[in-house]
Amino acid sequence: MLANLNDVLQPARKNRYAVGLFNTCSLELARGVIAAAQECNTPVVIGTAEVLLSVASLEEMADMLIPMAKRAAVPVVVHLDHGLKEETCKKALELGFSSVMYDCSTDPYEENVRKVAQMASLAHSYGATIEAELGHVGDNPSEGMQADPSAFYTEPDQAFDFVTRTGVDALAIAVGTAHGAYKMAPKLDFERIRRIAGLLDCGLVLHGGSGLTDQDFRMAIDAGISKINIFTDINMAAAKAAHDGYAGGELLLTGLQPRMEEAVKQATIKKMTVFQNTETISLGNR
Ligand SMILES: [Zn+2]
Repeated sequence: MLANLNDVLQPARKNRYAVGLFNTCSLELARGVIAAAQECNTPVVIGTAEVLLSVASLEEMADMLIPMAKRAAVPVVVHLDHGLKEETCKKALELGFSSVMYDCSTDPYEENVRKVAQMASLAHSYGATIEAELGHVGDNPSEGMQADPSAFYTEPDQAFDFVTRTGVDALAIAVGTAHGAYKMAPKLDFERIRRIAGLLDCGLVLHGGSGLTDQDFRMAIDAGISKINIFTDINMAAAKAAHDGYAGGELLLTGLQPRMEEAVKQATIKKMTVFQNTETISLGNR
């Protein structure tokens, strides 16, 4: 069933588990992720990001993902990840996305507040939810040096001011992760997550989740994270399945597609198992 972020993040926060966002800009990714969510009986966030629109347009994504979400046996949020332009977020809402992220994290603070507050009231008028980012989650450097990322970490008091003034439903916070594949092991600031979670009721989001350890995830969830974004891991799993299948003699796309889908499903299940509340699970098994 189609859901928005509040539907899935509020129960997650209360019961100390996290809902994964997995970008699904192809049929194999979408089928694999939804199959995993149904098998794990967990809600999930799917969708695309503005930087992925060259792979498939927003219209094409809406046509494919919204009916798939409605048919699913678990709550599925269809979300625009990292909407960078106002028009892109507006278009996603018009097309029926149930959630958008409006990322103005590289703007000056007051500009971020102003733009996001405006988009939040528009999203809410559609019955959709909105995520924003405060502080800045950077990209893993392809080469060489990176500026000290802790200079961009989210300040708890500013996060409180931001959420109060914008009315966002979820906030991506910068606490030591980066987008893409890690060259060096990331170090998360769990105490900062805990302080922000102590001040805010909205969903807290960890971006750049590919490459973190299971223990990192559990500690981040215990500290207050309720949404975790994963893309590189499932993207690579699909590509590897296609490569291995082809190298193994499967020369047709239609032969490779089910292998890609299965690889995505297995990689997603691995993450979902970690994101679930293991305490509840182990109590349930007793
Ligand atoms: Zn991100």
